[in-house]
Amino acid sequence: MYEPFISQYLDKHRYEAIRLKAVLFDMDGVLFDSMKNHATAWHEAMKRYGMSMTREEAYMHEGRTGASTINIVSLRERGHEATEAEIKEIYHTKSEIFTALAKPERMEGAYELLLKVKQAGLIPMVVTGSGQKSLLDKLNHYFPDIFRPELMVTAFDVKYGKPNPEPYLMALKKADVRANEALVVENAPLGVRAGVAAGIFTVALNTGPLPDDALLSEGANLLFPSMPAFNEAWEQLYSELG
Ligand code: MG
Repeated sequence: MYEPFISQYLDKHRYEAIRLKAVLFDMDGVLFDSMKNHATAWHEAMKRYGMSMTREEAYMHEGRTGASTINIVSLRERGHEATEAEIKEIYHTKSEIFTALAKPERMEGAYELLLKVKQAGLIPMVVTGSGQKSLLDKLNHYFPDIFRPELMVTAFDVKYGKPNPEPYLMALKKADVRANEALVVENAPLGVRAGVAAGIFTVALNTGPLPDDALLSEGANLLFPSMPAFNEAWEQLYSELG
């Protein structure tokens, strides 16, 4: 089903030199089916501080650091940015609401894909704007023996976060690979923008409510409607990417 689409993109001269060594996975909405809960938590937390943020807006901001999201909404809703203390408090509230919601599930097809990536001798990495302290435990619990802690990029590592290419450039550096030796897997428009800006072939998975164009207009090189669809197309994509 995706064959002509893949070939059409890979024929492009600029991707002829891809020599895949690492696959850089975003976390929320890619490895975990967690975006619904994040959107609800953002919406509820902002409401508690007298600010309006729809669930859909949460999807549009997905990938940003918490501080950046809070400042954008605060500026719009109150005419000024939030103080350091407010950012801390609002983000804490958002995290509490998120934690109280039912635990998000592993994204269907994600573990199968990660096993294939690893078995192919490629380096699987997580590149996330999330800053939960228990991140690594959670990843190890749901995806045992897949990720190496020293190769993770989280909110604790970056200064700017997505949509800046910084997190993906940092991932390349940590894995000691070049842009043409990596592949980004993202579900968020700003995450796609970051991957593309880092010069990396970027696969978008549309696992949320936004239209495909929200991802394609950011420069996604390929789009799949779900993780299972990507998992199904993996062998072919990998053989074409080389
Ligand atoms: Mg995401």
